[in-house]
Amino acid sequence: MSGSSAERARDGRTQQLLERRRATLASSYRLFYSSPVHVVRGEGVWLFDATGDQYLDAYNNVACVGHSHPRVVAAMAEQAGRLNTHTRYLTDETVDYAERLLTHFAAPLDRVVFTCTGSEANDLAYRMARAATGGEGFIVTDNAYHGVSAVTAGMSPSLGLGVAAFVRTVPPPTATGSGRDPGEEFGARVRDAAEQMAAAGVRPAALIVDTVFASDGVIAGPPGLLRPAAEEIRRAGGVLIADEVQAGFGRLGDGMWGYDRHGVRPDIVTLGKPMGNGYPIAGLVSSESLMSEFGSRARYFNTFGGNAVACATASAVLDVIENDQLIANAMRVGTRLRRAIADLAARHPAVADVRGSGLFIGVELAPEGAAGPSATDAARAVVDGLRDRRVLIGTAGPSANVLKIRPPLPFSDANADQLLEALDGALGDLTAP
Ligand code: PMP
Repeated sequence: MSGSSAERARDGRTQQLLERRRATLASSYRLFYSSPVHVVRGEGVWLFDATGDQYLDAYNNVACVGHSHPRVVAAMAEQAGRLNTHTRYLTDETVDYAERLLTHFAAPLDRVVFTCTGSEANDLAYRMARAATGGEGFIVTDNAYHGVSAVTAGMSPSLGLGVAAFVRTVPPPTATGSGRDPGEEFGARVRDAAEQMAAAGVRPAALIVDTVFASDGVIAGPPGLLRPAAEEIRRAGGVLIADEVQAGFGRLGDGMWGYDRHGVRPDIVTLGKPMGNGYPIAGLVSSESLMSEFGSRARYFNTFGGNAVACATASAVLDVIENDQLIANAMRVGTRLRRAIADLAARHPAVADVRGSGLFIGVELAPEGAAGPSATDAARAVVDGLRDRRVLIGTAGPSANVLKIRPPLPFSDANADQLLEALDGALGDLTAP
């Protein structure tokens, strides 16, 4: 407990807010960190708490161009002050943004549907894949997360509630090397799952993958990783859905989309989180030919999806990504950071693997002998230790033993150095007497 009366007063305010939150928000909500951060303001890579303390944000991919980016905020406010209607009216902003977004996709990916959330985009991908293939079975990875709607929660084993009857799970690509080519191995897993599905009388409709396998523990894998799996699902009559909600918009530093690294062209791509830098806009991109079966029978209207403010905001996000060369920055700073963390690992026996691409880094921790803490407890301790040092990260993976480092894309060398110093300290605390 802090000493001065001013400190006690502010702790009291945060405590009160916590109690009001508990009394009003449903019990399904969760807060990050053993000691929650009461944030009141964001700017660039920084978050500020109610006491004015400054935190380096190395976690939030939603604010991909930085918190409260002035250009994005100005575009949002200007459009909100002029017009905000939905897609049943003809508006310049929606078509302008659709045209601009589609320049980042190669043929035949030539149509977009706007939604508000990644869950809605994946839910729609489910409906479109079924309509296009006539199949109904979906293959997902063992600890996948694809959303919160009834259908997408059923495709999200990481929620811990099992999966829907139409879903088969496969282990994600091996992260730490089993001796086999991880892409071939993953392709074989997809083939087996599709065969088992067909044997049970279920026609495969799709393989859906987060292209950085974030909830499976951050597995960027070697370039080309997804190619064999894409071939297998198509051979089985299904389509490949690339869930770019985590990896998309340049985070992996190697092109705009996670699948770019793997030389595959998905049949359906879903987008979300970073698309509006915090304004709710998400979407689905596919080809007119794939969508036509669904479109001929169904009308799709999403009241807020693709409204003029959403599209003006998302367009400003692309301005910043392009003008500030944030994809190249993600690659340069991310690669340096990943290598420096790998160097740190030599001093910290708890670190079992450092992986990722661009500004999406996973640091896997392993238990240190039977007497030491579990890897899950160690990861929690490191995340809390960083929070105490005013640096924010999270965890990933089925055992939550992978440190998840996923900062806004303008992360600088100096930011990376600050993170490294704090990480060194927090890892050091694991073995401190
Ligand atoms: N897919 C992936 C890979 C995600 O990480 C998320 C969100 N964490 C979603 C889908 C769902 O997005 P939303 O929360 O916007 O519904």
